[in-house]
Order: sequence, then C-alpha cells, then structure tokens
Amino acid sequence: MKKFLVSGGAGLIGSHITERLLRDGHEVTVLDNLITGQRDNLTFCASHPHFTFLERDITEDCSDLYEGGWDYILHLASPASPVDYAMLPLETMRVGSVGTENMLEIARHSGARILFSSTSEVYGDPDVHPQKEDYNGNVSCTGTRSCYDEAKRYSEALMCTYHRVYKVDIRIARIFNTYGPRNRENDGRVVPNFMLQVLQGQPLTVFGTGKQTRSFCYVGDMVEGLLSLLFSDVTGPVNLGNPAEFTILELAELLQELGGIELPVTFEPLPHEDDPRRRCPDITRAKTLLGWEPKVHPREGMALTMEYYRERLASRSGE
Ligand code: UDP
Repeated sequence: MKKFLVSGGAGLIGSHITERLLRDGHEVTVLDNLITGQRDNLTFCASHPHFTFLERDITEDCSDLYEGGWDYILHLASPASPVDYAMLPLETMRVGSVGTENMLEIARHSGARILFSSTSEVYGDPDVHPQKEDYNGNVSCTGTRSCYDEAKRYSEALMCTYHRVYKVDIRIARIFNTYGPRNRENDGRVVPNFMLQVLQGQPLTVFGTGKQTRSFCYVGDMVEGLLSLLFSDVTGPVNLGNPAEFTILELAELLQELGGIELPVTFEPLPHEDDPRRRCPDITRAKTLLGWEPKVHPREGMALTMEYYRERLASRSGE
C-alpha cells in the first residue's frame, strides 16, 4: 500500500483517479477547496477506511503536510473549464503558481514523486497539427484565457526548476479535453452543455462557426494514462488525450444521434477571442514510452456519459 496525496481530488479526473487508487489498495488523501470540485463526486468513498478528505485551499500554508509520509502526489487542482477560469481568474493564477509551489514543497520535504496536470492549453491556438511535446505553443499572454494558460506554463517551469535545483522527482502530463461521468453539469464545457441540451430537447449552442476542432478523451482512459506516466521513469512532458479529432458541429451531430433526437443549432459568438481553432494531440511519446493509448471509442464514452446526465436529471425530477 502506497500513500497518495491528490490535490483537486473532487474534480472529474481527481475523483476517478481516487476511485482507482482505493480499488488498488492504496491510501488516498484528497485536498480540495470545492470552488469547482464537487463533494458528491467522492460520496462513493466517504467512509472508506483508507480515504481522507481535507477541504482546504492549497494556496494557503501547507507546511503541516510536509511530514505526511507521502509516496506520490498528484497535483490536479485548478479551475479547468473556460467558463470557470473566466469567473475565477485570480484563483486560477494563484493555484497555478502559489498552489504548485506549495505542492512542490510538500514533495521536496516528503521525498514524494509529484505529477502535475498540465494542459493542451500550453500550446495556445496552435500553428502546428497535431501538437507534439516539443512544440512551444502560440499563447497570448494577455488574452482572456491567459490566466489559465500562463499559470499552467509557469507551473511546468516551476516543476522543472524544482527538479533541477532540488532533484524533486517530477512528472508532467499535458491533458487534452477529457469528459465523462462526474463532469460538473454547469462548468460550461461543450460536452456537458450539449448533453444537457440534447436530454432536455433544447437548441444546441455552437460558439463561432463550429468548425473549430477538439479531441475528446474518456476519463477512464485518462486515468490509465496518468497512472502509467506516474509509475514510469519519464520526467519530460507527455501529451495524454484521444487523437480522434471532431469539429464542434460533428460533436453536435454525434450527440443528437446518441440521444435519438434532432435539434436546432444556434450560433453564438465565441466567448474568448483566443479560442483555439484546432486541437489534436500527437501521442507518439505516450505510446512509445508508456505503452498507453486510449481504448474507449468516443461513441461508447459519450453514450456512458450521456447516461450519467440522464440519471442525474431523472433523480432531480423525482422520476
Ligand atoms: N463550445 C461551444 N458550445 C458550448 C460550449 C463550448 O461551441 O456550449 C465550443 C468552445 O467555444 C470551444 C469548444 O467548444 O471552441 C470546446 O470548448 P470547451 O469549453 O469544452 O473547452 P476548451 O477546449 O475550449 O478548453
């Protein structure tokens, strides 16, 4: 049994990784201030004997955790959807700067290996396709997404600096769009938005032309990828995501098909002028070095996720 500390453990990826680690017999302590995470994502393990939940903000003093005897730290905490980080821009910058430094200090004092959840946003609105880890990105440092993008880039730099200066054992995952059950309904991301619109028979809100692309990875695949990276000896950044690329209009079609309904589409202005036009990971490094690639087909993962939202809506209306 190993001892894990997971920041942001009440979020989409954090709760699934916690579930997997407990199932594998490990001890897990979650840190989350619940500004975007959901306490009920962890209801399944609330009374598990190897699980501890600490509702706290990792941008505040964390020195009481230095002697925690941690083997592994997963630093996942941050608002992650464009709507969330537009509403919480200063919190986003703090968690991706002070928060990362605090987590690195815990790693340094306890000797734990630390994995940081970086993002495809470090590539900004990319000029090259698909994006490889050695591409340095096309990021606006003043745009409305910069609070997130630049905090993540700073965190990567801080991780590498702690590795060089203090020999902290680091892993950096660049996570591309991930979806699945437990993704907060109102976080504003395209998958929950479209799914709820389909399930409630409302028009689908497409921002911009809908020709921009994203590639969507099922959360179960992401958990496998993150743990493969954590237990590997790869310290450089690794892209994790599903290379199946969809336009937003294609996603709208797929979800209507899965929901068995045809709905009107309303075109709305892009909320961020720096909204990336194309995004697709090159996962050669993950395949070669970790032996990892996504297994869940988008159609299957989207159907599982739609079922989750369907059940939530049904339980709320008392059906
Ligand atoms: N988007 C959309 N309708 C929505 C929500 C998002 O067309 O209701 C678009 C958004 O402008 C972006 C893409 O879908 O181009 C993915 O947005 P999301 O917020 O899921 O995450 P991002 O990949 O931009 O971080």
